[in-house]
Amino acid sequence: MMQVIHAPAEMYNQTMLLKMSGKKVGFVPTMGYLHKGHLELLKFAREHCDSLVLSIFVNPTQFGPKEDYGSYPRDLERDKELAAHARVDTIFLPDVDSMYPPGYRTFVEVEELSKGLCGAFRPGHFRGVATIVCKLLNIVAPDEAFFGEKDAQQLVIIRKMAQDLNMPVKISGFPTVRDADGLAMSSRNVYLSDEEREQATGLYRALQNGRSLIEGGETEAARIDAAIREAIARDVPAGVVEYVDIVDGNTLAPVSRTIGKTLIALAVRVGKARLIDNIRVGG
Ligand code: AMP
Repeated sequence: MMQVIHAPAEMYNQTMLLKMSGKKVGFVPTMGYLHKGHLELLKFAREHCDSLVLSIFVNPTQFGPKEDYGSYPRDLERDKELAAHARVDTIFLPDVDSMYPPGYRTFVEVEELSKGLCGAFRPGHFRGVATIVCKLLNIVAPDEAFFGEKDAQQLVIIRKMAQDLNMPVKISGFPTVRDADGLAMSSRNVYLSDEEREQATGLYRALQNGRSLIEGGETEAARIDAAIREAIARDVPAGVVEYVDIVDGNTLAPVSRTIGKTLIALAVRVGKARLIDNIRVGG
């Protein structure tokens, strides 16, 4: 039977009991409104642990004042069914007050890595992400935690935080799950109209195009960047590009030449949705 735990102390105690009996605890943190991307991530995690914890928490501190915290899609009953089907053992479902009680004062900042890419357009976002993930890792105390590569910058930041703060947890990444037409799955895809949804498929094609250029011998980041932007302007006319960046896959620092491990990442607003996607090349 799947358990639902609300209280942080109860969650921690459960993990301690499991660990004492030699069980390996796996953890997948989410904001809910589960889609196939989450389910594949859970399936992968399921295969790597004895007891699987899923958290669902729409974290207010990672949303900007003008962002979609209030309207972020939520459907707890459906999530519970999907989680049971994915053989989740425990859903950790804290409320906002237990995570951020009145007088809450502590935040985690992962410097430098949080500045570029999405960080440049969502001030404070990664401070909120690092803080909540740190808290969740302390409460759930898993042996291994699993994150999607779709949120590439988030994964790099969490790995760095876990390393810098000596957190006794293994952080694992999982490849982006896409719809058949290439669009990266996201809870925010529900914001798209049919026409926007159709156009949005152009984002992954543009990234693939960028990767082909590199694989074909192009190394000039500016040229690859321009080709991706052109493809978006042509195929995603409803899109407003926030950024297309070509960065070092480890440090996330912009590169002018694509030698070694490279990450091409983008954020594009399409209608009400802010879509992100990325592709890795080389290394
Ligand atoms: P979210 O609920 O959007 O915060 O996502 C929770 C976790 O699922 C994060 O580690 C995400 O990177 C991961 N995730 C979200 N979408 C996908 C996807 N399409 N493929 C793989 N992982 C994903």
